[in-house]
Amino acid sequence: MGQTPSILIAGGGIGGLSAALCLARAGFPVTLVEQADTFREVGAGIQLSPNASRILQKLELDGLGDFAVEPGSIRIHDGPSGNRLLTLPLKPEMKARHGAPYLTLSRAELHQALSRKASDEALIDIHLGHRAETARILDDHAELEAGGRQFSADILIAADGVWSPLRQALLGDQPPQYTGHTAWRALIDPADMPAGLSGAHTHLWLGPDSHLVHYPVCGGDKINVVALTESSWREEGWNHQGRSEELQRAFARWASPARHVIKAMGEPLKWALCGRQPDLDWHGHGCFTLLGDAAHPMLPYLAQGAAMAIEDAHVLARTLQSNPEPMAALRAYEAARAPRTGRVQQGAFANAATFHLSGPAALARNMALRAAGGAPKLFLRRYDWLYGHDVTV
Ligand SMILES: Cc1cc2nc3c(=O)[nH]c(=O)nc-3n(C[C@H](O)[C@H](O)[C@H](O)COP(=O)(O)OP(=O)(O)OC[C@H]3O[C@@H](n4cnc5c(N)ncnc54)[C@H](O)[C@@H]3O)c2cc1C
Repeated sequence: MGQTPSILIAGGGIGGLSAALCLARAGFPVTLVEQADTFREVGAGIQLSPNASRILQKLELDGLGDFAVEPGSIRIHDGPSGNRLLTLPLKPEMKARHGAPYLTLSRAELHQALSRKASDEALIDIHLGHRAETARILDDHAELEAGGRQFSADILIAADGVWSPLRQALLGDQPPQYTGHTAWRALIDPADMPAGLSGAHTHLWLGPDSHLVHYPVCGGDKINVVALTESSWREEGWNHQGRSEELQRAFARWASPARHVIKAMGEPLKWALCGRQPDLDWHGHGCFTLLGDAAHPMLPYLAQGAAMAIEDAHVLARTLQSNPEPMAALRAYEAARAPRTGRVQQGAFANAATFHLSGPAALARNMALRAAGGAPKLFLRRYDWLYGHDVTV
């Protein structure tokens, strides 16, 4: 191909924007098309472990230090009894062990910081309000019709999320499957939290067929709450209106502080979670590849979907930079990422089962977690493969 290949990215979520920034930093001209008219993320939160926060730090996002929170610990509770099972130290443990912090932040603020940085980057050309409609992969370039315009580039990257229309069109894959899990979410005021739960910590509550997670975001000005339940409800989209009454019913047998948090969520938004079975052999073809949820959608039960998209972005840029043959670089990127993202997908499915146990199995889980409390740092080492993975070296 000779000259620096041009790159076309479909999708301006956390994955697409991170990829645009990493690729531009590596010297590649990038065109990004996003279907939404403005960059906006729904008002939910996100946890980013050291394996991803170290990449964000390298991107030097403005204001990250102000809006991101570094929680002191993860506190795990039994939902029905309210008993604390285990406290895992995060600050300063994560930074000391892995060289980067464990952060909790608002998706909207992260997304704004990424999109501001991308808009300021001379090598990135952004087209909002351009929905990718049809694409063709030719021998040495790709063509994409989006928002009534024709785009052409040497490489096409689908970063168009869990339902990835490009994945389905270009690889002939089926849509992702509903997992039977629903996420309910709300941002609430720290003053509305029950006593003892308002500090800068992540809390995880486990219970039969459901769990609850909350942590501070927006520099500590808000608490992000996500309640996860199992149900047959399924509709595509991130912003369906949920009913407080229904959610409170699902948690009616839980301990009072957890019910307090559920009630404080008011009328939450909800979405039905989709996933694909772990795929250790995901791949594009020719000058086409995938990134983020388009490649490896997962349950959020390891808090790693966005982290994997950010890792993908860094690895893709580095692989293209170090390999003079772009198509070979794309296959090398896929081969490097599939085992890791497949393992994380599997881990998230496994957590779904463990978090939602009931009866004797839940008692056994709780006993094991309590026992781990004697050496929490030792317990955290189980996650070295995940948090200690450094794609930047
Ligand atoms: C309840 C919940 C909690 C989570 N918590 C965490 C967490 O704590 N930590 C973590 O790391 N991950 C978490 N995740 C996962 C994380 O949200 C996703 O993995 C991440 O957002 C994926 O980013 P993406 O850019 O690949 O996809 P998306 O964020 O879905 O972005 C896709 C983009 O493509 C655009 N698009 C779609 N179709 C087209 C088209 N045809 N043309 C143009 N543009 C298009 C969309 O508008 C969107 O902007 C959580 C997920 C859920 C559901």
